[in-house]
Amino acid sequence: MTKIDPIYVGKEAIAHLLNYVAAHGLNRFCIVADENTFPALGGRVETALKGTGYDVTSVVLEGHHIHTDEHECMQVFIRAPLGPCTFIAVGSGTITDITRFVSHRTGRAFIGMPTAPSVDGFTSIGAPIILAGVKTTILCQAPLAVFADLETLANAPQALIGAGFGDMIGKITSLADWKMGSLLWDEPYDAAIAARSQAAIDSVIHNADSIGQRSEEGVRALMDALIESGLCMLDFGTSRPASGAEHHASHYWEMKRLKEGRETQFHGAQVGYALTLVAAQYARIRAITRADLMNRLEAAALPDRAAEVENIRGGYGAMVDDIVKEHRPFLDLTEAGFDQLKHKIVDHWDDIQAIAARVPAPEVIAAALDKAGAPTTWQSLGLDADEVQPGFQYGHYLRNRFTVLKLSRVLGVPLG
Ligand SMILES: [Zn+2]
Repeated sequence: MTKIDPIYVGKEAIAHLLNYVAAHGLNRFCIVADENTFPALGGRVETALKGTGYDVTSVVLEGHHIHTDEHECMQVFIRAPLGPCTFIAVGSGTITDITRFVSHRTGRAFIGMPTAPSVDGFTSIGAPIILAGVKTTILCQAPLAVFADLETLANAPQALIGAGFGDMIGKITSLADWKMGSLLWDEPYDAAIAARSQAAIDSVIHNADSIGQRSEEGVRALMDALIESGLCMLDFGTSRPASGAEHHASHYWEMKRLKEGRETQFHGAQVGYALTLVAAQYARIRAITRADLMNRLEAAALPDRAAEVENIRGGYGAMVDDIVKEHRPFLDLTEAGFDQLKHKIVDHWDDIQAIAARVPAPEVIAAALDKAGAPTTWQSLGLDADEVQPGFQYGHYLRNRFTVLKLSRVLGVPLG
């Protein structure tokens, strides 16, 4: 199992980094940062390392909207020193993923120094890289260690902090969907990991006000929760504990924007907004009585395979083959398999209702997002009105995972 040690969040991040590199005999470094994160922290890291006599090269990526794409990765490949060195990623998710990819592909390790509590991917082993406008997660490596400077995190732009909050409370429906997937679709489930993730969610909801005020206490709670969520994924081995229908919708919106050459939005900002809509979907499930359920199941028909593939083509265009491959277990469902699924829904209806009952009402979620400074409307995410629903209509095809949207389709409950 990957061991990231230490993971430090506090006021002495640079001092802890210096102790760590001395203890591990590391003496040659390549700092990767951007025009915002170098002045915020990278410059001080460089000065401290050079002041200790180490050899340091800094690669500062230019421009205010850095993407994890070929261009930026190539910048780091070209400007990084040859020979042994340890990379240090000083930035939010994007800089971390670029560094994760380049360090791994050049056979070197990296240390993470997150500058914003914006995503739960700092400890991940995968790097989502945009190749020819399509985001692909490439298996790379986790950091050796993480040193997060609390003051830098607290001074991060509010939009990034709000995005971190959105990514984190998005786990409310990730967990609900995961539990449902374990009951209805035999997905592997780990109750201890689910409990850890739930505790992290509870902590950020409890601290929503102080996160919105960017107090050190609030920002620390948020960063700790994001790190815990990242470790849950690492320990479980997939993103399942931290990704459900809310993430699928967000991924769909992002893919669409990339395809159209439009500016993307912060991942967590989209996830938080999507969560309000998925929570509304759970509210619709809560309203279904057992008698109503039986009528709906009576009327339910196995989706036609050819029509499903055409629907996927409509939503994904040239990516249709990849999506069909991922979605095959659903597409290949036989009448007997569909019947079995309907029986499972009946058998587990009380459990499903209990899962749905734990998802807060959409207004409660929107209020928490608002407190933390995260967007709650499609307008504030730069989506068009007619782009919202396709995130749900097509997003669920992205993974072979059972979500409330899959249940809604079986029961004939409109999506989104
Ligand atoms: Zn996420």
